[in-house]
Amino acid sequence: MSELTSYHMTPAEFRRYGRAMVDWIADYMEQVESYPVLSQVEPGQILASLPASPPMQGEPVEAMLKDVETLIMPGITHWQSPNFFAFFPANNSGPAILAEMLSAGLGVQGMLWATSPACTEVETVMMDWVAELLDLPDKFRSSGPGGGVIQDSASSATLCAILAARERATNFQINERGLNNKLVAYASSQAHSSIEKGIKIAGIGRENLRLIEVDDHFALRPDRLVEQIEQDRRAGLTPFFLVANVGSTSAGAVDPLPEIGRICREQGLWLHVDAAMYGTAAVCPEFRSIHDGLDWADSYAFNPHKWMFTNFDCNCFYVADRQALINTLSIMPEYLRNAATTAGAVFDYRDWQIPLGRRFRSLKLWFVIRHYGVEGLRYHIRRHVELAQQFAEWVAASDTFELSTEPTLNLICFHHIGGDAINQAIMDQLNAGGEMYLSHTKLNGRLVLRLCVGQTHTEFQHVERAWQRIQAAATEV
Ligand code: PLP
Repeated sequence: MSELTSYHMTPAEFRRYGRAMVDWIADYMEQVESYPVLSQVEPGQILASLPASPPMQGEPVEAMLKDVETLIMPGITHWQSPNFFAFFPANNSGPAILAEMLSAGLGVQGMLWATSPACTEVETVMMDWVAELLDLPDKFRSSGPGGGVIQDSASSATLCAILAARERATNFQINERGLNNKLVAYASSQAHSSIEKGIKIAGIGRENLRLIEVDDHFALRPDRLVEQIEQDRRAGLTPFFLVANVGSTSAGAVDPLPEIGRICREQGLWLHVDAAMYGTAAVCPEFRSIHDGLDWADSYAFNPHKWMFTNFDCNCFYVADRQALINTLSIMPEYLRNAATTAGAVFDYRDWQIPLGRRFRSLKLWFVIRHYGVEGLRYHIRRHVELAQQFAEWVAASDTFELSTEPTLNLICFHHIGGDAINQAIMDQLNAGGEMYLSHTKLNGRLVLRLCVGQTHTEFQHVERAWQRIQAAATEV
C-alpha cells in the first residue's frame, strides 16, 4: 500500500497539523474575550448544520479546522473567558493543555501498574504533592494506610466513597449478597446533586438519604443531625455515611467539620468531605481553616479541574484506609494477572475507581504544579479571592443590591432588592448580551445571583466591568 493510500496521518503531517492546532488554540486564548461568553445558538442549530452521515472518503484537516470555526465555535460557551462568572469555574492553563496533549500522544491506558508504571507512580507522587500543597492530614498520604487517586469527577469520588462506606457498614456483604435496604446516609440540604445520584446508583435508595437542615450560613446543623440519626436508629435503620460540604455549590457553605466529625466517629459513620471547588483555596495557608476538622474524615475530594488551572477532568480523591476502597472495587480476572500485582508490590489504581481503564491524568498536575510552583498557584488563588471580596464590598455598599450570604472566598451570592423577577431579568439580559455569564440559585426560597471568580485570566477590570454591567442592567430591565 503506498503512503497515499494508507489512510493514516503520517508523523510529518501530524507535526504540521499539530503546530497549526497549537497556533489555533493560542489564537483562541488571545481572542477569547471577543466571543459572546454564553453561546447564543438555538437548540438543534448545531445538529442541523452537521452532515447526517459520516463521509465515505477521508477529508483534509484544513476542512475540519474550517468547520470548527464556522460550525462549532457558535455553539461554544466560553468557559475560558475571563468574563465567565457562572456556576463554578472549569479553568485551564497552558501547561495543563500541553500535558493533556502528551497524555493523548502517549496514549497510555494505565489500568494496572504494569500497563505503564510511570502512569501509576507519577500519580502516587502527584497525590502526595497535592496533599502537601493543601496541607491535608498525613493519613491521606500514600506512605501510610491511606492514599489518593485521580478520579474523573467529584461525582465519581463520592460514589466510590459511598460504595466503600456501604461495604464497611455491611462487613463487605453487599458486593456478594446484594442490597440491604436499611442503610441511611446524611448530607445537608445544600449538598450537591451528585450525592443523591451516588446514593441512587449505590442502591441505597433516595428515600434513605436524609437532607439535614442548615443554619443561617447554610451549613449543616449538628444538633439536627444527631436528632435524625437517633430517630433512624430507633426505627431499626443503620446510619452509615455522611457527606460534608466544604464550599456548597449554591452558597459556598462550609459545614462544621469538627462537630460533624466527632458525631460520625461516635456513630460509626463514614465521613466524606466534598470540597469540589473550595479545596483549591487551601493551597494558601491563610484559607486552610476551611479544612479544620478534616482529621476526622474517612475520605476527601476536590477538583483541580475547577479552580486549580488543570483542565477538566481531574478530581483528587483521598481515603484514610485504602484497603476499604480496594476491597470494595477490586477485581482480578485471569487476563489481568501479573507478577507485580501478585507480589503486592504496587498500586493498581483500577481497584480505586469504578472503570477499569484510566488515562494518564497526573501529567496535568505534574505540569501545572511545576509550571506555577506553589508560589504561583498561591498568587493567583489569592488574587481571585481578593477580586471576589472587592465585588462583595461594592454590592454591600449599593442601595439596590445586597449580599444574600456572608461572602466566602471566591463565590459571591447577591440579589437586587426588587425581588425574583427583576433578578431573573437582570441575569437573562446580561447572559443574552454575551458580555459576561452569571448563574443563579435559590436560597431560602429567594432567587439569588452567583458570581464566582475563578477563570484563569480574570482580572480587576473584568470584575469591575461585571459590576458596572450588572448595575446598568438593573436600570434597564
Ligand atoms: N460537589 C460540589 C460541591 C460541586 O459544586 C460539584 C460541581 O460543581 C460537584 C460536587 C460535582 O463535580 P463533578 O462535575 O466533578 O462531578
